[in-house]
Amino acid sequence: MPKKISIKTKLVQPDFSSHGNFKSLADSVERASTVVFDSVEKLRQRDWRDKNQYTYGLLGTPTSRRLERQLAAIDGVEHALLLPSGLSAISTVMLALLKSGDSVLLPSNIYAPALEVAKYMQNQYGVEFALYDPMNIDSVVITAKTKLIWVETPGSVTMEVSDLNALAKIAYQHGALVAIDATWAAGIALPVFELGADISIQALTKYQSGGSDVMMGCITTANDKIYNQLLETVVTLGVGVSPEDCRLILRSLPHYALRYHAQDKAARQIATWLTQHPAVDQVLHPAIAGSPGHHVWSRDFTAAASLFSVVFKANISQSKIDQCVESLALFHLGFSWGGAVSLVVPFTRNQMHATYSYEGLLVRFYIGLEDVDDLMLDIKQAFSMLQ
Ligand SMILES: *Cc1c(COP(=O)(O)O)cnc(C)c1O
Repeated sequence: MPKKISIKTKLVQPDFSSHGNFKSLADSVERASTVVFDSVEKLRQRDWRDKNQYTYGLLGTPTSRRLERQLAAIDGVEHALLLPSGLSAISTVMLALLKSGDSVLLPSNIYAPALEVAKYMQNQYGVEFALYDPMNIDSVVITAKTKLIWVETPGSVTMEVSDLNALAKIAYQHGALVAIDATWAAGIALPVFELGADISIQALTKYQSGGSDVMMGCITTANDKIYNQLLETVVTLGVGVSPEDCRLILRSLPHYALRYHAQDKAARQIATWLTQHPAVDQVLHPAIAGSPGHHVWSRDFTAAASLFSVVFKANISQSKIDQCVESLALFHLGFSWGGAVSLVVPFTRNQMHATYSYEGLLVRFYIGLEDVDDLMLDIKQAFSMLQ
C-alpha cells in the first residue's frame, strides 16, 4: 500500500492480518476469556505488552486489536488503546500520567465530567489542577509541578477553538505533556499530532459509532513510553471493551468520514442561517466568523463537526427557551451526539462553566442526517414563539 494514503482510503481497506486464510471482507467477532497456549514454555513466556500476542481475553482479542490498529492509522501514530467510554479514556490519561504533588492545567471550558476527574484526583491523591482561559495563551501559567496541559478544542458547549500548537510549544519548553480531547474533530478535522499533541483521546461513542448504541473511548499516542504507562494503568484497573462493541464501531468506521462531512455541510448551513434570526445573539460555531477562535479554526482545521451552540438575546427567559426546544419535532432532547438523529440541549446558567461570559442563555444543537430543509422548518416553527 502507498505510504501516504488518505483517511478515506484507510477507513475502507480491509485488515486481513488476523484472519488466517479466511479472507472475508466482513469483520468477525472474536471473543475470549481464556486463550490457550501451545506449550508450557509459551505459557510462561507470555508477554501482555506484546501486541502480537494474545494472553487473556481482557488484554485483547483479534477484534479489539483490529480496531486499535485502525484508530492508530487514522491518527497516523503507532499506538491506540480502547476504553469503555470517552470519560474512562480521560480518567485513564490523568491516572497514568499524574502523581501526588504534580499539577495539571485544564481549560476553563473543559467537558464538565473531566473537571470532576481532576477534582477527584486532587481530593484522593493530591494531584493539583489549575484552570487556564483557552482564548488567552498568557493565562497558561506553568510551574515546576505542571506535568500535563489538557486541551479540548473546540470546547464542547461554548465552542472556543484554542491554539493547540502554541500550547504544545509552551508545554515542550517546560517538559510538560499535552493531551487533547479531540472528540469534536474525531480524527478527521484536526491533525493533532502534527500540531504537537502527545496524547489524543476521543469518545468513539460519537461519530465513530454513529449508531447511538455503543459507549467507547480511545487513547492514541506516538510515544512508546507514554503508551506503556497508559497500558500499565489500563491493565491495573482491569478494564476492557467487549469485542461485540468493537465490531459495531468497526462496521461504522468505513462510512464515518462521509457522515462527518455531510453533517458538517448541513450544520454550517443551519448555523449560518441562524445568525440572521432576530432571537439569536450569537452562533457559536467555529467555522462562523465571530465565533471564538474562528481564525485558529480556519488555520488548523479542515472540517467541522455538526455540533454548535446558539446564544439567545439576553431578554429571552429560560422558560421561553425550554418551551421552544420542547416544541421542536425533529430535534430530540438528549446528551451525547454522533448518531443519525438531531439533538438539542438547553443549558441553564448554573450548568455553564464559571467563565461563561454571554448575557443570554445557550442551547446546543447537534445536526444529524435528516434533510436540512426539514430541520430548518422545524427550527423556524419553534423559534417563532421567541419573538
Ligand atoms: C461525549 C464526550 C466525552 C465522553 O465520552 P463518553 O463516551 O460519553 O464517556 C468526552 N469528551 C467530549 C468532548 C465529549 O463530547
